Amino acid sequence: MSPAQRKRPAKAHSKSKASSAPKGGSEASASDFSGLPVRAARKKLLRWYDANKRDMPWRHTRDPYAIWISEAMLQQTRVETVIPYWERFLENFPDVETLASAPIDDVYAVWTGLGYYSRARNLKHAAETVVAEHDGKLPDTAEGLEKLKGIGRYTAGAIASIAFEREAPLIDGNVIRVFTRLLGIREDSAAKEVVERMWRVAGAIVRGERPGDLNQGLMELGATLCTPKNPHCLACPIRTHCDAYAVGDAESLPIKKKKAKPTKIRAIAIYLERDGKVLSVRRPETGLMAGLWELPGGEIDAKDEAKDRVQEILLEVVGLELLSAEHLGSVNHLFTHRRLTLEVFRAHVAPKGRVKRQGFDAHKWVAPESLLDLAHAGPTRKALALVGLTDETSARTARKNNAK
Ligand code: SF4
Repeated sequence: MSPAQRKRPAKAHSKSKASSAPKGGSEASASDFSGLPVRAARKKLLRWYDANKRDMPWRHTRDPYAIWISEAMLQQTRVETVIPYWERFLENFPDVETLASAPIDDVYAVWTGLGYYSRARNLKHAAETVVAEHDGKLPDTAEGLEKLKGIGRYTAGAIASIAFEREAPLIDGNVIRVFTRLLGIREDSAAKEVVERMWRVAGAIVRGERPGDLNQGLMELGATLCTPKNPHCLACPIRTHCDAYAVGDAESLPIKKKKAKPTKIRAIAIYLERDGKVLSVRRPETGLMAGLWELPGGEIDAKDEAKDRVQEILLEVVGLELLSAEHLGSVNHLFTHRRLTLEVFRAHVAPKGRVKRQGFDAHKWVAPESLLDLAHAGPTRKALALVGLTDETSARTARKNNAK
């Protein structure tokens, strides 16, 4: 059943439930608000949200599980990208029990293309906990939700307020932008005391009726009007209370301290062919890109001649003798603190010889057209694109298989 066919949500409760503000939520003081009349701002925000909210499929449901999935997918990913993934995920795993009992590779297969696979892994882990410890029902408070793997302070606030009408605050990038401008916060927006002040303000705003809509209204305002560049202040429902609008410096807020430059690293990835199949190896269950598939390879030094290291790395990680290698090019990938340059080679090895496992958990020889069915992290997908394998390849394979 597609989400569009799903039962329409029950009407929002007229009264919200008692606050379940996540830990550390101390009471706001008058100085936190810079004179903002909270009650009036709340009213205007709700009125504007009712008239202007964008249509998103998860806004037609009150199923906490479906809302949780949408929140997990929306982290680091745009709404338009998420919609088809959310629909497909719910078709494959319609409830928490189905997700909890599914093999992780099936979950990855539906997640493929969304990236940040740790989110999928955490969802499955948390679903197992919900089934084992909560009788298959998501906890209905922010505190309870935060105990589940992968659910942080923001996500707990979002699910508790939207799905359970709890007065649970949240802040994300959009809300931070709105608050720094509204309240005229002209200090580093990532400073601990500034962040805590914003949580206190969010906690005060979310009180009363329709906490979920208040939170969504704030985020929607940040996403559609209070944009990083050219904010649409004239259309903003709370501009008469906005400090940055009055001062005229909205675009310069929030203030972000410059981050340290990412460390540069270099590595080799080898598209290794034997008998028409390609070798894929799976990373260990912990650490960076845990549990994901990739092409065999390894790190090299900045000054290394990449082609001189292929044979040695191949022997070291899979124990196979190289017959030939061709450099296909390089791809770049930015992690949170590291910038990776991946030198990609296409190589052949002798038809015989067992793969030895060094530094990875599993391996498979896979037909090239099926490679993208495996869950790969971003750098490997970029490397595969150099060989001509893109998401369109897997879509074609899926269409072919479906037609059989
Ligand atoms: S008036 Fe402008 S800067 Fe202020 S909250 Fe509204 S959109 Fe943002």
